[in-house]
Amino acid sequence: MKSKIKIGILGCTGAVGQKLISLLYNHPMFEIAELAASENSAGKTFEKAVLWKEQIPIPSSVKSLIVKNCLPKFESKLLFSGLDSRVAGNIEMELAKYGYIIISNSKNHRMEESVPLIIPEVNSSHFGLIKSQKKKWNSEGFIVTNPNCSTIILAISLAPLYKKFGLKKIIVTTLQAVSGAGYPGVPSYDILGNVIPFIKDEEDKIEKETLKIFGKFKKNKITFADLKISALCNRVPVKNGHTLSVSVETEKKVPKEKILNSIVNFNKTNNNSLHSSPKNIIDFFEQFDRPQPMFDINNHNGMGITIGNIRKCNVLDWKFTVLGHNLIRGAAGTAVLNAEWLIKNNLTLQYLRNKFNINGAELK
Ligand code: NAP
Repeated sequence: MKSKIKIGILGCTGAVGQKLISLLYNHPMFEIAELAASENSAGKTFEKAVLWKEQIPIPSSVKSLIVKNCLPKFESKLLFSGLDSRVAGNIEMELAKYGYIIISNSKNHRMEESVPLIIPEVNSSHFGLIKSQKKKWNSEGFIVTNPNCSTIILAISLAPLYKKFGLKKIIVTTLQAVSGAGYPGVPSYDILGNVIPFIKDEEDKIEKETLKIFGKFKKNKITFADLKISALCNRVPVKNGHTLSVSVETEKKVPKEKILNSIVNFNKTNNNSLHSSPKNIIDFFEQFDRPQPMFDINNHNGMGITIGNIRKCNVLDWKFTVLGHNLIRGAAGTAVLNAEWLIKNNLTLQYLRNKFNINGAELK
C-alpha cells in the first residue's frame, strides 16, 4: 500500500468540514488523521461531537477520532480549514506561523496581498505567491485560500470568455442555497416559501474576489483584472446548489458559436489533470429550462458546474444561467483540488520532506 500524507481538518463538525471528510476519507493521497473544532466539540469523539448531515454514513475511520482544539499541536502538517470566519483569521495565521500548510475555505485571508486565492483550473499561476507570503510573514508554513462559493461558480463560468475574448462588464444575480450559510444556518421559519434579498458581505466578496482571481501574477504580486462587476445576492429555499443569472459584456464581440467553442476548449485543457478534477469542468445545456439544482448539482460528483441557455442580452452582450454545488465545487472540492495541485507540483512534498522529514516519495 502506498503511504499517504496525514492531514487534519479544522472545523470538522461544520457543513464544509463534513464535506471535506466525505471527499477525503477514501482519497488515495491523504489520510484523515486529525480533526479539530471549537471548545464545545474538543475532547469528544467525532461521532458524538457532530450532527452528521452527509448522505453517506460517518466513515468508520473518523468516527472515533477525538476532536482536538485548534492549537498548533497537530502531527499532520497539512490542514484543511472549514472554520467559522469569526475565528478562522487568527487560528489559520497562527498555525501557518508554526509551520503548517493551511488550505482554507474561509474569507479571512483571501484578499491579503501575499495569499493565493485559487481555483486551480483558472489561476494556478497565483500559487507563486506562496514564496512571498512566507517571506512577508516570516512564517514556516503558508495559507492557500479558495474563493467564496458563488465567486468560484461565477469565475469558472467566465474563465473561457475572459481568457479568449476579454471581459468588460458583468452583472450577476445569485439564488443561493441554505447550506451556504452552514449548519443550522438560516432558520426554516425565515426561508421556507421565501426569498431573502440579502447575504451579509456576499456582493462585496463576489465583486472583489473575481478581480483578484482574474488578475495577473507578475513580479511576486497580483495586478487585479480591470473589469466592472455588479452582484445582487439572494438566499432561496434550496438545500444545495447556487444558481447564478449572469450578463456579460465581452471586449471582443463574438457569436454564440465561438463562446461555445471556448467552453469546449477550456474543458479540454482541464480534464482530469488532478485526481479529483471532473471530466468536464463546465457542462453546457441547450435547453432553456436548465440547469436546475434538483437535477444538475451532482454533475461530475459536484465538481463540475453547469451552464445553460446562453442567449443575447439587450443591455450587455450575452446572458446565461450557471449552477454549481456550493459545498463541493464552491468550497471543499476546490480546497481538495488546491491540495492535489500542491502535491502534483511538488510544493507540498518538497516542503514536508525538507522541514519534517516526511517521506511522500511513493506518491509521485
Ligand atoms: P459551519 O457549518 O457553521 O461550521 C463552522 C465550523 O467552525 C464548525 O466546525 C465549528 O465547530 C467551528 N468553530 C466555530 N467556532 C470555533 C472556535 N471558536 N474555534 C474552533 N472552531 C470553531 O460553517 P460552514 O458553512 O461549514 O463554513 C465554514 C467556513 O467555510 C466559513 O468560513 C464559511 O464562510 C466558508 N464557506 C462556506 C461555504 C458553504 O457553502 N457553507 C462555502 C464556501 C465557504 P463546533 O461545531 O465545535 O462549533
